Amino acid sequence: MPQRLAIFDTKPYDEESFREANDTYGFELTFFEPRLSKETAILAAGFEAICLFVHDLVNAELADTLYHHGVRLLALRSNGYNHIDLAATKDRLKVVRVPRYTPYAVAEFTVGLMLSLNRKLHLAYSRTKANNFSLVGLQGFDMHGKTVGIIGSGLIGSIVAKLLHGFGMRVLVYDHRVNNDLIKEIDCFYTDLDTLFRESHIVSLHCPLTHETHHLINAATIRKMRPGALLINTSRGGLIHTHDLIDALKSKHIAGAALDVYEEEERFFFEDLSHSFIDDDTLARLMTFPNVMVSAHQAFFTKEALQEIAHTTLSNTKKFFDKTPLENEVK
Ligand code: NAD
Repeated sequence: MPQRLAIFDTKPYDEESFREANDTYGFELTFFEPRLSKETAILAAGFEAICLFVHDLVNAELADTLYHHGVRLLALRSNGYNHIDLAATKDRLKVVRVPRYTPYAVAEFTVGLMLSLNRKLHLAYSRTKANNFSLVGLQGFDMHGKTVGIIGSGLIGSIVAKLLHGFGMRVLVYDHRVNNDLIKEIDCFYTDLDTLFRESHIVSLHCPLTHETHHLINAATIRKMRPGALLINTSRGGLIHTHDLIDALKSKHIAGAALDVYEEEERFFFEDLSHSFIDDDTLARLMTFPNVMVSAHQAFFTKEALQEIAHTTLSNTKKFFDKTPLENEVK
């Protein structure tokens, strides 16, 4: 009997990458377009293994429902697992994830956002489309010689550090753990958060969302930031207290923000809502600023990343069915 995997919250690109990777594994794959929710959990009935993405939120109630439907494995096709209530899945549902895939996808996108925000490429693009060739308001600054502050120097943050070091930037880093490989490769300086905030022209977030990092960027920490700093977030929306960011944009203490993630993104990101309106006043306000760029959790979205994500997810699932040790288990 073929081993079966139900994949929730799928788009055509997910189906393509999973079908391609599945040539090696031979699962019977079932693709469900809807996200996993209380209402859609019934679709999981009869599947021992289901595959979830970042907006498939599993709380205690849903964990219970899934268990009763016979589900035993949640194969996350993401690095982050903050959308799963691990206390509720403990001892009943195994959770595996994709601990790494090409970090270049997110790192390169981060630098792209930085360049766009600083040099106002997003504004220039729509201006020239409308035959407006004026440069007024489009001035940026040389990144060469400026200071970037990187919070979190793991896989992604360390590549961002290296890319920006290549631009001739002074690189400050904050992390609990010093990345010794990074220090060997480039001149960068581990420092405390206050110094990083005070000295950085650009602050870029690359740490996970945890109790400790929730709202790491808030009114108090923003006050410590250099006036006119740019803020980039390609990590998780919950790292930023969005109302405080909006206040700082209004007072011009923060000169611009590029956000690939947003605290309440689940209801919007990955969907085409162009026929509708945004009933989240915070997100709507954020998008009125010309110096704010919002992308819809797109940083990971390269061909290479999707291939690696599909392969690791199927390999994790195979190990579960074959009862071999799960090296990518989240505990
Ligand atoms: P990683 O685990 O390799 O690195 C995270 C680093 O953050 C580690 O070095 C860790 O020590 C550090 N850290 C933990 N707590 C910290 C704290 N309180 N302050 C400072 N540093 C702290 O992870 P990664 O692969 O580099 O990914 C970083 C983040 O990027 C992920 O947590 C995820 O939220 C996000 N991400 C976003 C996308 C996207 O498409 N936008 C895709 C993948 C990952």
